[in-house]
Amino acid sequence: MSAETKVAVVTGGSRGIGRACALELANAGYDVVINYAGNEAAAGETVKMIEEAGVKGEAFKFDVGNKAEVAAAMAKIIEKYGRVDVLVNNAGITRDGLFIRMSDEQWDAVVETNLSSAFYVSNPVVKVMMKQRSGAIINMSSVVGVYGNAGQANYAAAKAGLIGFTKTLAKELGSRGIRVNAIAPGFIKTDMTKDLDESKFTDFIPMKRMGEASDIAKTVRFLAEDGGYITGQVIGVDGGLVI
Ligand code: NAP
Repeated sequence: MSAETKVAVVTGGSRGIGRACALELANAGYDVVINYAGNEAAAGETVKMIEEAGVKGEAFKFDVGNKAEVAAAMAKIIEKYGRVDVLVNNAGITRDGLFIRMSDEQWDAVVETNLSSAFYVSNPVVKVMMKQRSGAIINMSSVVGVYGNAGQANYAAAKAGLIGFTKTLAKELGSRGIRVNAIAPGFIKTDMTKDLDESKFTDFIPMKRMGEASDIAKTVRFLAEDGGYITGQVIGVDGGLVI
């Protein structure tokens, strides 16, 4: 592999927003490593689409909320690719329920998958980026991490946690040439939102429609490629939902 080849890692890249980010970065010339939890067919399809862009694609199955699995997989990825230029901490789940009825399992699954994952995955990547003295980390937060949402105490806490994580890493790593930003998507059409009744909430969105995964992916590409003096920010991509 040429020393100049840029490498991107996208967690949860088999479907939805993660797949769109992987394809956008492939089109920008990055070799793209995606991660997924279990949907092998979708992951394989994403890899095929990445390679159709003329770059290298590869999928690694591991649970981003499992510290040991992440450490083993990231060591393999870093050994094989030698560098990481862009990390998108995107993998996420919901396990909704009113707080009064929220189980330990619901809380732990969402906090581990959506928040602890960013710590586990970023840790080895930051070490590589510090040696490179360059890199961009983009954390997939949510409007819910900014304004809360009944029925999502676990998800809101994890997504708000990602914002604090983003701002802190930006302060610690800026002098090393590493930029760290978060995106707060609004309602985006993916498997995660497929059961929502769009007509119930579009009235509250100034743009009166849901967003597309590609809207988030284009923002990721901008933050990775062009946002050279942007760090520690939370970019809302929500059709004006949070103003
Ligand atoms: P999605 O369509 O449900 O896709 C989720 C992705 O995460 C899949 O690739 C899935 O892999 C992967 N994943 C889930 N749990 C994992 C685990 N434990 N380890 C590794 N990978 C795991 O979700 P999405 O809508 O694209 O959401 C992507 C991110 O954006 C999430 O962090 C979500 O919270 C955030 N977000 C979404 C919206 C929205 O409206 N859609 C709004 C705000 C924020 P498999 O395919 O193998 O299951």
